[in-house]
Amino acid sequence: MKFILASNNAHKVEEITAMLGGKIELSTMRDAGLDMEIEENGTTFEENAMIKAMAVWNATKKPSIADDSGLEVDALGGAPGIYSARYAGEDATDAQRMAKLLGELEGVPDERRTARFVCCIACVIDENTSFTLRGTCEGVIGYEPRGQYGFGYDPLFIFPERGLTMSEILPGEKNEISHRADGCRKLHDELLRRGLID
Ligand code: IMP
Repeated sequence: MKFILASNNAHKVEEITAMLGGKIELSTMRDAGLDMEIEENGTTFEENAMIKAMAVWNATKKPSIADDSGLEVDALGGAPGIYSARYAGEDATDAQRMAKLLGELEGVPDERRTARFVCCIACVIDENTSFTLRGTCEGVIGYEPRGQYGFGYDPLFIFPERGLTMSEILPGEKNEISHRADGCRKLHDELLRRGLID
C-alpha cells in the first residue's frame, strides 16, 4: 500500500519503511509534488499528527501518514511534551534543551524522574477512515548527558534496568526499542487487522 508521509525528511521515510518490513511504500511530500507549510497548532501529539496527515489528505486525496513525537517528564506534568523541539526557544541547540530540562528537575529525586518518549502516528486511509496510534518508550531522566549516539534528549534518557542512556546504546538497538519502533509496530498491526497489508 502507498502512503505520503507528511514530512520532507527522507531519513524518516527510510526508517518507517524499514520498521514496517517494507510492506508499505512511502513518499515524502516533496516527492508527491506538495509544497506547503502545515501549522501544528494542536494541543496533543495525536492532534498534531492528525493535523499533518489530514492536510496531506486534503491536498491530494491520497492515503497519508504523519508522526509527532517528544518527551514527557512526569515530575513536570508531561512537559516538554509537544513543545520538545522548542523547549528552550526556536533556535536553541540540543545541549540548551537538555540544560533547561536538568534545571527544571533540580532537586527532584531518582524515584520522581520517570519519563517516556512518545511517538504518535496518524493515518488517513480515505474520507471515512482515519486513526491515530501511540508508541512509547519508558525511562528516567539522568543528572548529566551521557553517550555518543542518537539526538535530542537521548543522552539524558536512561533505561533503569540497563543503566545506560539512549545515547549509549547502538543505533540498531535503539531502533528496536524506541517509541518510533513501538508506534510502527502498532501501525503495522492495525494495517494488517484492517486487511490493508498482508
Ligand atoms: P519530531 O516530532 O520527530 O520532530 O520530534 C520532536 C522533538 O522531540 C525533537 O526535536 C526532539 O527534541 C524530541 N525527540 C523526538 N524523538 C526523539 C528521540 O528519539 N530521541 C531524542 N529526542 C527525541
